[in-house]
Amino acid sequence: MAKLEIKKVNKVFETKKNRKLKALDDISFTVADNEFAVIVGPSGCGKSTLLNIIAGLDTASDGEVLMDGKRIEGPGAERGMVFQTYTLFPWLSVQKNIEFGLQIKKMTKQEREERAKQFLDLVQLSKFGDVYPKELSGGMKQRVAIARALANDPEILLMDEPFGALDAQTRVVMQELLLEIWNESQKTVVFITHDIDEAILLADNIYIMSRLPGRIKEILHVDISRPRSHKSLYTPEFLKLKTRITEAIWEESKAAATEIRK
Ligand code: ADP
Ligand code: MG
Repeated sequence: MAKLEIKKVNKVFETKKNRKLKALDDISFTVADNEFAVIVGPSGCGKSTLLNIIAGLDTASDGEVLMDGKRIEGPGAERGMVFQTYTLFPWLSVQKNIEFGLQIKKMTKQEREERAKQFLDLVQLSKFGDVYPKELSGGMKQRVAIARALANDPEILLMDEPFGALDAQTRVVMQELLLEIWNESQKTVVFITHDIDEAILLADNIYIMSRLPGRIKEILHVDISRPRSHKSLYTPEFLKLKTRITEAIWEESKAAATEIRK
């Protein structure tokens, strides 16, 4: 059975002055258990809207999202979210940031501390438990955010351009780290990016969205062997996929620009 089923999801936003904006148009696809699913598409096409609906932070105007066959009605601990901008609590140390979500679960103080340490270790930040977020670089903050999401042991990790604000070198390090973690933890991941290299490096399947209102334009399977690293970017399969995705997104962006001019 599919881990996630997105079934005919539509989203209409009521904007100011009672205007309606159709953001998602009949989105349907399934994500398998343990799949690394990557969603790409032109800017403003509804990617975050779709992920927020899967997270239960927003609701579909029509259609539904099922997890393990059960309808998603709101946020839940079985879905962990990592956003593009840093969402750590500035008044808590790194260690306490990770422990925060665990307080909701029935864990003793000692269990919480041990678990937080274990996940700090996983993202290679074990020496930074006592440090406050403002003392960390962007890449380190995102590693804490990933550790925090993983410490809650979600079944699905939802990531909205998590590396978008990082410099190119840090980004590659983070991508390879995420692949390692995913490989070990065997979670289902839904990952949004506008970076095509990143999409191909990470994905089992790439879901290409159209311009607004977002539809699923094309689904591509990435047939590059794992484990992957930045070296996978120099293979012929990679170039072939990159050309195809670049053209698909370019086509949508161009059409969107033409529509605006009309
Ligand atoms: P993406 O993440 O692909 O860049 P979004 O999902 O953020 O796109 O937005 C899709 C469209 O929906 C955009 O035109 C955006 O302005 C609009 N939108 C997003 N959130 C809201 C909201 N809460 N109210 C009104 N319009 C919104
Ligand atoms: Mg977005």
